[in-house]
Amino acid sequence: MTATLRTDTGKVRKRNEDAAWFDEQRGVFAVADGMGGHLAGEVASAMAIDAVRRMAESHDVASIAVMREAVEQAHAAIAAHAQANPACAGMGTTLSAMWRGGHYMYIAHVGDSRIYRFRDGGLEQITQDHSLVEELVRAHIITPQEARRHPRRNVITRALGTQGDNAPDLLAADRKSGDLWLLCSDGLCAMVEDEEIARTLGGEETLEAMADSLMKQALAAGGRDNVTLILWRDEEEKPWNRD
Ligand code: CA
Repeated sequence: MTATLRTDTGKVRKRNEDAAWFDEQRGVFAVADGMGGHLAGEVASAMAIDAVRRMAESHDVASIAVMREAVEQAHAAIAAHAQANPACAGMGTTLSAMWRGGHYMYIAHVGDSRIYRFRDGGLEQITQDHSLVEELVRAHIITPQEARRHPRRNVITRALGTQGDNAPDLLAADRKSGDLWLLCSDGLCAMVEDEEIARTLGGEETLEAMADSLMKQALAAGGRDNVTLILWRDEEEKPWNRD
């Protein structure tokens, strides 16, 4: 097994509104972080993950076009469900999904969950947060350190199922045997600094031990939110007849 998943309600929240899933055989991985009162957040994140799972089960070859379609379907299904069920009004979810191609990881991303690639000792955030603080950082109004403590750090600017912007970022990131990929909800990266994540992934531990360690660090730092992570080590030789 070269992939592993952890999820935890954390130390403050009563429910776990994160959802995550992977199929190592098909090379598909996804994390979603739901929002909305009562049970709604869980419904939204589960619906997003379900759309990715159905996409994976009905297509053999990774493609950006198919991912775009899956994300659009997820958005439409969540929005329709919210419309039909007053208790779910306003629900939404982030979604960060990746799909293994021959030479690239294809990525669809909405919201502030993250995908990181750890290669040759360096951690790189592949996705860009769709959050208010990220926009302020990019505009040089606040620093990344100020963003971590900003009172409105939880405000996201794009989500699936909501009325605002829901367009996914669609990207292809190159892959190399030995790369470690981390998908996580903000409950991990808001609690654990990138340097600590890099230190953990750079250790000589097994994947399982690394995942346990990241979860432990997030909870020890306060566990203010639900914490979800998927770790995958890319050990597949690249076939030359794909992509
Ligand atoms: Ca969260």
